[in-house]
Amino acid sequence: MPDEILKTLIIGSGPAGLTAAIYTARAGLKPMVLAGSSPGGQLTKTSLVENYPGFAKGIDGPKLMNDMIEQAKWNGAEMKWESAAKIEGKQGPFTVTTSAGEVLRTHTLLFCTGASPRRLGAKGEFDYQPKQSTEQAVWGEGVTYCAVCDGNFYRKMPVVVVGGGDSAMEEANYLSNICGEVTVVHRREGFRASQVMIERAQSKKNIKWELNQGIEEILGNNEKEGHKRRVTGVRLKSTKDGSLKELKVDGVFIAIGHIPTTQVLQGVVDLDEQGYIKVDDRQRTSAVGLFAAGDCHDSRYRQAVTAAGMGCKAALEAERYLAEHGLS
Ligand code: NAP
Repeated sequence: MPDEILKTLIIGSGPAGLTAAIYTARAGLKPMVLAGSSPGGQLTKTSLVENYPGFAKGIDGPKLMNDMIEQAKWNGAEMKWESAAKIEGKQGPFTVTTSAGEVLRTHTLLFCTGASPRRLGAKGEFDYQPKQSTEQAVWGEGVTYCAVCDGNFYRKMPVVVVGGGDSAMEEANYLSNICGEVTVVHRREGFRASQVMIERAQSKKNIKWELNQGIEEILGNNEKEGHKRRVTGVRLKSTKDGSLKELKVDGVFIAIGHIPTTQVLQGVVDLDEQGYIKVDDRQRTSAVGLFAAGDCHDSRYRQAVTAAGMGCKAALEAERYLAEHGLS
């Protein structure tokens, strides 16, 4: 067990974690950030980010996150490219064992590990996503998990939304104002979504429905000289009789839920039935001194800018907690 006890340890390096790192560093708390194996979080997997304020013509997602990492370091945060493998303690100080086996102790813990979209598992799903290289990722290539982030790339084009929950209805409604035709593909006839959301979607003339259908394959053109690899359609398979048909679309929006990255907190803080961390309006969890921010507790907004705001709140609350306990 190390003698030194950190004032603040931040787990996660998306907008929530890095904003928390900037604020706690500027408050003199010398934060350490466990940035994880893919630093920068979900935005490093998107292309152009057009809705983060301050960038008149948008900004490349990986560049935005890289700049946030540099800003956190410049303000004095220490970054470690490791994850948290184990967390112990019901109140501070907490003991955290990293993926490299290092044992750390900290008075406050800011948990900002985000969530990942549930994958469909359809053939072709991973062939048409923006490439990791920022030069190539000029815009989405056809498969995406976020209408608010990428809808604008499919103006007046036909797209499908996969899913039958509130997210799918919300995405379909949002896209119906931007895209040409939006087809909701759902594997059964009944919906998990709330009635009001279903009715709103049903009232839109350009939303069509393919029920009792699964996505058998996402179709696209191949990368040839001067011809970008793009989605051209989907092959649907009836969940009733197995019959196949094709739809021509330019975009596939998958909205079948998210999985919060909170497994390591099981038994440490209270989670809801879907695994999201329960927090109060001051980002406090059930463990005293452990705060959470971003998509790991927020299933509703899931935006970079809201995550950053919550990271700021968590940092200010951690600072206040340390001062109140004579630890700053
Ligand atoms: P969800 O409620 O879990 O719905 C997921 C949908 O995806 C279900 O219709 C499910 O089908 C389908 N699905 C799951 N796995 C699939 C697969 N492998 N292949 C095909 N379809 C699959 O998730 P969500 O819609 O993201 O909502 C999550 C939570 O956020 C909910 O509590 C929701 O109310 C809330 N939310 C609220 C709002 C709002 O109020 N404005 C907006 C968005 C989300 P089955 O139904 O057949 O299982």
